[in-house]
This record gives sequence, structure tokens and C-alpha cells, in this order.
Amino acid sequence: MDKLYAPTTIRKIKQKHKFHLSKSLGQNFLTDGNIVANIVESCGAGEEDLVIEIGPGIGVLTAQAAEAAGKVVAVEVDKHLIPILKETLAEYSNVTVVNQDILKTDVTQLIAEHRMIGDRPAKGIKIIGNLPYYITTPIIMKLLEEQVPCDSITIMLQKEVAERIQAPPGSRIYGALSVAVQYHCEVTYVMTVPKEVFHPQPKVDSAVIRLDRRTQRPVELTDERLFFEAVKAGFGQRRKTLLNALTGVRGKTKEEIAVMLEAAGVEANRRAETLTMGEFASIANEIAKQ
Ligand code: SAM
Repeated sequence: MDKLYAPTTIRKIKQKHKFHLSKSLGQNFLTDGNIVANIVESCGAGEEDLVIEIGPGIGVLTAQAAEAAGKVVAVEVDKHLIPILKETLAEYSNVTVVNQDILKTDVTQLIAEHRMIGDRPAKGIKIIGNLPYYITTPIIMKLLEEQVPCDSITIMLQKEVAERIQAPPGSRIYGALSVAVQYHCEVTYVMTVPKEVFHPQPKVDSAVIRLDRRTQRPVELTDERLFFEAVKAGFGQRRKTLLNALTGVRGKTKEEIAVMLEAAGVEANRRAETLTMGEFASIANEIAKQ
């Protein structure tokens, strides 16, 4: 039998099930067994762990994860893929496929429902996925903002987005997404994945990153929501100075922001992309005080 990730298998499945790949659902399937193995290995799942997979497609990562983990729950929005997954994953009794939109799924509840492996709760919870590119950022932000109880998130996404997530202050591509993800997680760049290993081939290269949830916040905050409001406002108008970009946050006037920036020890004419997370935190804490 052909390997599940082989292009010939995808072709046969398409014919047999009269399945049409959906561009709008970001269906670019992996066709390289080494990369499939590498992603699952990078997530570090073992037989006492639960893996939640986002967008299984025809199940290449799912099958590999099922070999390594105690249990796998895969969330796939495309109903046409459900009978296919039933067939391709038939030999794995530790896999459950859920036909749902991940953005509308209560992932915390899904984990709670599937937490038991035999008579023991899973030791670790690992989220994995070759993400549909049209909703990469919303998926990541949902998992982080909802504080889904997982240890790590190992995902494939566009290389350019992976680089933005990892960018340090002072870099041209450092932005609100970098601060948000780095606030919640430690980011590891696992590997670059060339566009040639997908069917159909996307226009750009991809990358795999692993996000490990921090057990402690990297900065002290009086008001987390206000911190993210300030970060968003700062980067919302990148070319403006901080003084101008932050004016209006929580209804503060320019004069008030100037005083707060001074108290935080941040020069008013700097731009958001030069600020460390600690400096954003100082500003937000000053705004919260006044
Ligand atoms: N994991 C497979 C692989 O690596 O070959 C497929 C990856 S493909 C890039 C993305 C998958 O996510 C597709 O199967 C697509 O149908 C599914 N998908 C798209 N939007 C989704 C959503 N909102 N919720 C769950 N799955 C979704």
C-alpha cells in the first residue's frame, strides 16, 4: 500500500471519494514523510500524552501522531474529509475525528472531554497542525487568549508569519503579533519547509515553529488588557511616534501620555517597533496608575 503522504495516494483518494481540494479552506497537503515525522517528533508527544490536531486533511500527521501519542483528537471543518479520515485512520483506535470549525470550538472543553487515556488523565497536552493559512493568526491568538490548557503548540505556517512571530525588538517585522506570542510562549523555530513538498503547491515557503507556554509571565502587569491595548495602538500606526500613536488609549490626552511616557522612562519620539516587552509593560503600568 502507498504511503498516506504520497502524491499518488492523494490522487487515488480524490478519485475514489470524488473529493475536490478546497483552496478557500487552505487545503495544501503535506507529501514528505520526513517532514511529517519531524513535526510530530518536535511536538514531543509520548504515549501518556493527548494530541489535539487542527486540520487533519487526509490524516498524514494524525496517523504519525497516533503512533507516538496515547490519544489524538483531530478537528476538521471539511465534512467531505470525514469519511476519508475514517478510512485512512481505520487502524488507529486512539484517534477521534471531530467535524468542527476550530475557531468555533471550545478547545478547553474538548481537552477536558478527552483528557483520560485509559484510566489516567493525560500527562501532557500537545497541539499540532499544518494550519490553514487563511486563518493562521486567528487560530494562534484564540489558543493563547483563551489560555487553552496545553503545554505546547507545534504548527506549520507561512515562513513569513513564523519570522514575524519570532522577531526581536528593533526588527522591521517586529509587531503586535510578535509581542503577543512572545508574551504567552517561548518560541522555537523548528525548520523551514519548501513549498515543493505540498499538494497543491502553495506560492510561498512554510516553517514549523513550536510555542511552549510560559509558566510565568515575562513581565509584571497591573492590567493585561491595557498592555495589549497599548501594544495594538503603538503598532496600529507604526510610522507615528509613540506619543501620537498612544494618544487616545483609555481616553488619555497627548499631554497625559507625555507624562506617562516620561514616568515609564521611554522617550516620546520613539516608535513602537523599537520597544522591548518590558518597556511596553512600564508604559501600560503607568497608564493604569493614572
Ligand atoms: N494536516 C494535513 C496535512 O498536513 O497534509 C492538512 C493540512 S491543510 C494545510 C489544512 C487543513 O485544515 C485542511 O484539511 C482544511 O480542510 C482544514 N481546515 C481549514 N479551516 C479549518 C477550520 N476553520 N477548522 C478546522 N479545520 C480547518
